Amino acid sequence: MRLLLVEDEPELSALIRNALERAGFAVDLVPDLAEADDHLALAGYDAIVLDLALPDGDGLSLLRRLRAGGSNTPVLVLTARDGPDDRVAGLDSGADDYLVKPFHMPELVARIRALLRRPGAVLGVTLSLGNLLLDTTTRQVRVDGLDIRLSVRETALLELLLRRQRHVVPREILEQNLYSFGAELGSNAMEVLVHRLRRKLAEANATLRVHTVRGVGYLLAGTE
Ligand code: CA
Repeated sequence: MRLLLVEDEPELSALIRNALERAGFAVDLVPDLAEADDHLALAGYDAIVLDLALPDGDGLSLLRRLRAGGSNTPVLVLTARDGPDDRVAGLDSGADDYLVKPFHMPELVARIRALLRRPGAVLGVTLSLGNLLLDTTTRQVRVDGLDIRLSVRETALLELLLRRQRHVVPREILEQNLYSFGAELGSNAMEVLVHRLRRKLAEANATLRVHTVRGVGYLLAGTE
């Protein structure tokens, strides 16, 4: 899952980005509306976290343009203003949720997950294949009912493959969803990640396998 974070306060934005990355999201951080527009033109996002008071304008203008253009990407608005009028304006402009600063990071992560679970959004609650279950809310992975330990990124990879199980998932799609825009990706970063996931699945006797489709991507299929 890839998020766009539009926030101009350096300290706060770093905290938010860290919290979201630890929760398994790939996060692109931009400090103003102009850069937000550039990123939105180039990449697809699963959700947007949008500050309202930005150096080059009001976040609500971006939100209105998005909705006018037909985008239904979930948007969570961050606001330092506490007046009810601002909240109403945000929701009228098409925000799906809002948080008033200061807020607790776990609250932000929980709200984002809730947005992504809404009808029409891509997230389901539990994904399964063979003897493996992945709970997309708690991030628990179980094989035959026993928890297995995966890193945040391994879990994110598994989730992407499970969502399109038995179909090839192109490598670029995986990279876009697992790593931030412009992240320094070693040439074999994806191979290393897939290798670790395969090893852990094998160690847990999971009845599924990650297949490499040379030159295209990866495919997850059951072994039974
Ligand atoms: Ca601001």
